[in-house]
Amino acid sequence: MTQYVIIGDGISGSSAAETLREEDPDAKITVITDEGEPLYNRILIKEHAKGKLPEAPISIHEEEWYEDRNIELSLNTYVTSVDTDAKVVNTHESGEIPYDKLLVATGGTPTQLPVENSDADGIHHFWTFQDARGIREHAERSDTGVIVGAGLLGIDFAAVCGAQGIDANYLMRGDRWWRYALSSDGAEIMHEGMREVGVEPVFDSGVDRFEVDDEGHVTAAVDPNGDRFECDFAGVAIGLNFNTEFLRGAGIEQDNGIVVDEYMQTNVDDVYAAGDLTRFYDVLLGEQGQNGSWGSAKEQGRVAAVNMAADEEAEAFQWVSSYSITHFDFPFLSFGHPTLGDEHAERRYSDTEWRRIAFKDGRIVGGVLIGDLSPQSKFKQLMREQRIVADQADVLLEQTVDLDDLAAPQEQ
Ligand SMILES: Cc1cc2nc3c(=O)[nH]c(=O)nc-3n(C[C@H](O)[C@H](O)[C@H](O)COP(=O)(O)OP(=O)(O)OC[C@H]3O[C@@H](n4cnc5c(N)ncnc54)[C@H](O)[C@@H]3O)c2cc1C
Repeated sequence: MTQYVIIGDGISGSSAAETLREEDPDAKITVITDEGEPLYNRILIKEHAKGKLPEAPISIHEEEWYEDRNIELSLNTYVTSVDTDAKVVNTHESGEIPYDKLLVATGGTPTQLPVENSDADGIHHFWTFQDARGIREHAERSDTGVIVGAGLLGIDFAAVCGAQGIDANYLMRGDRWWRYALSSDGAEIMHEGMREVGVEPVFDSGVDRFEVDDEGHVTAAVDPNGDRFECDFAGVAIGLNFNTEFLRGAGIEQDNGIVVDEYMQTNVDDVYAAGDLTRFYDVLLGEQGQNGSWGSAKEQGRVAAVNMAADEEAEAFQWVSSYSITHFDFPFLSFGHPTLGDEHAERRYSDTEWRRIAFKDGRIVGGVLIGDLSPQSKFKQLMREQRIVADQADVLLEQTVDLDDLAAPQEQ
């Protein structure tokens, strides 16, 4: 009987456990998580923090779900090390857990700002359900806020401040939100969305230090220009540190993430990785890629499990991810790798409609859609087909995209 151990009960670990049980009905499957609750919908915790969604619908699995599938779930259990020669996982209290095949699916932890008082009371980071409960409780009684981190998670803090009636300043380092994926035209639509919910974007800013009161509670952020922004609530979302410290000495190759091939295999036999923390071989991109999104993590967990159970390279991970934001009156969606590419095409259609497509070697590798998401499935299809279309960007930028208007694919 094969023994599978999965570290992490996020969406990648949990979907791997589900697939392993389907693929290998007799196996022993153990899922270990340091959180106190089984899988929940991490993308919905922001709605809880906004005060818009109660707890119950956010939970995905009860403990019975694991019992019903004969999957052993260890809650509140922190993995401290892995011995890949002896094939055992060590935890902080329950001793050694042997494995035949191991999946590392431990995601990341938000990075703290390396500035004075960055751990003060009232400064929040956002990753777990517990974080969301704390953010909601504090946001409900706060009047002024500061947000740091001009990316996809930072904007959730902006939405929380907006929904909770906090008068907030969003301090950004450059001249716009998510400058690696958006031009000024696209970003301006997002800035307007922020202003409409009461959050003011502040450019060429950031945080030099936080000020605190006698009780150690944050009172202000001071930016590198010396400008002072009063706040009793602060949200910091400047990136993730991947949770891999327990792999020290295990011989697993890392390069800002665990390096895996398209089968989710690491360089060490019988050790796989899935989810946010992988640097995986992206067959569509033709190089190593990284992705922090729910759908991608779920699919990586499933593909890893298929390969673990098959004992061979049975299925490659091939996926076009997407990430949507629904905080404003207009929808927003990024897909693929919008920050990569060697060529870009974009157009603004109205005050709330904009589109940008990123190409690499003539093929679509990602993009951002604001206002009108209707071309999404067509762009994803072209990505999957790896069609060379950069020379026909005008067709892709038409308000209504008709793939029949593209020239027939060339022999490539
Ligand atoms: C507020 C918020 C909003 C988001 N919104 C979106 C969105 O709109 N769309 C989208 O696609 N994605 C969104 N994401 C990202 C998405 O949630 C992640 O990409 C996804 O959850 C990653 O899943 P994962 O399984 O790789 O890792 P995680 O969900 O991080 O799970 C890893 C688990 O491993 C546990 N763990 C870590 N170290 C150890 C250890 N040593 N021992 C035991 N357990 C350990 C962690 O506690 C955690 O439970 C959002 C994320 C957040 C935080």
